[in-house]
Amino acid sequence: METNPCNNNVNGKSAIPSKVSRKPSQKDTIVNINGVLVGGAEIVVIAGPCAVESREQLFETARSVKAHGAGILRGGAFKPRSSPYNFQGLGEEGLKLLSIISKEIGLPVVTEVMDTRQVEMVASYADMIQIGSRNMQNYPLLKEAGMCKKPVLLKRGMMATIDEFLLAAEYILNQGNDQVILCERGIRTFETSTRNTLDLSAVPMLKRLSHLPVIVDPSHGTGLRWMVPSMSKAAIAVGADGLIMEVHYKPEEAICDGYQSLNLDEFRLLMAGLNKIAKAVGRGISTLKAAHI
Ligand code: PEP
Ligand code: MN
Repeated sequence: METNPCNNNVNGKSAIPSKVSRKPSQKDTIVNINGVLVGGAEIVVIAGPCAVESREQLFETARSVKAHGAGILRGGAFKPRSSPYNFQGLGEEGLKLLSIISKEIGLPVVTEVMDTRQVEMVASYADMIQIGSRNMQNYPLLKEAGMCKKPVLLKRGMMATIDEFLLAAEYILNQGNDQVILCERGIRTFETSTRNTLDLSAVPMLKRLSHLPVIVDPSHGTGLRWMVPSMSKAAIAVGADGLIMEVHYKPEEAICDGYQSLNLDEFRLLMAGLNKIAKAVGRGISTLKAAHI
């Protein structure tokens, strides 16, 4: 029988040593994204559009999320779309826009990579590369990400167990890259009222089993703009080290995922509310340290 190195659920002990597992009294790993630390005392909010659509869309959204406390900018240039006829992203042109605005406003950027042949190119523009839910078990891609020198945001596969998720992260660590952030983004269940079922119990479980930082994506986790604020607060309350959420300057005109994207004002209001929850659990939002909100 195959022994699962991450299967600690039964007795709290790893069957065999693994790099992703938390060892007794091991400190949390802190991931450094060009100076922004994820996994320490402070909570980091990653915000931006689902996809980079245009210079105006990206720049207006980016400037606003920065002004209201985002610590990292998100935006997809290579989009994993269910239909091949849907917008696939601007590709390298999108990466260039991300890199320009990142330097202008001083926010690191995270963007998805889907193809082993593009890891080097994407990593040359981004401060952190994202491996999306659909690619969580793309083992050649995980290995390639493990060989690159940039931090990796690994999203939970929509059908993946916690053990499978941790083993996917193990592939990256095993190549010598321990700068990995785990992201709970909702799983498929029988429930259809939300896009996915956001498994917030994954947060304390992952924190218990692993030393890696854990963040939550309430946008893909629910698929509903109005639910993003409450699930964001809940995520912080259960111990998430950060959030990644979709924000768009005109969600009603977004090419993808507009229905789950906050507008700029909704993001501003959410950040004020989040800081209160963060303080209640003895933390703070990294960029709102001095703010009395
Ligand atoms: C995304 O964050 O842009 C995305 C496609 O998310 P997921 O991989 O979780 O579906
Ligand atoms: Mn999206």
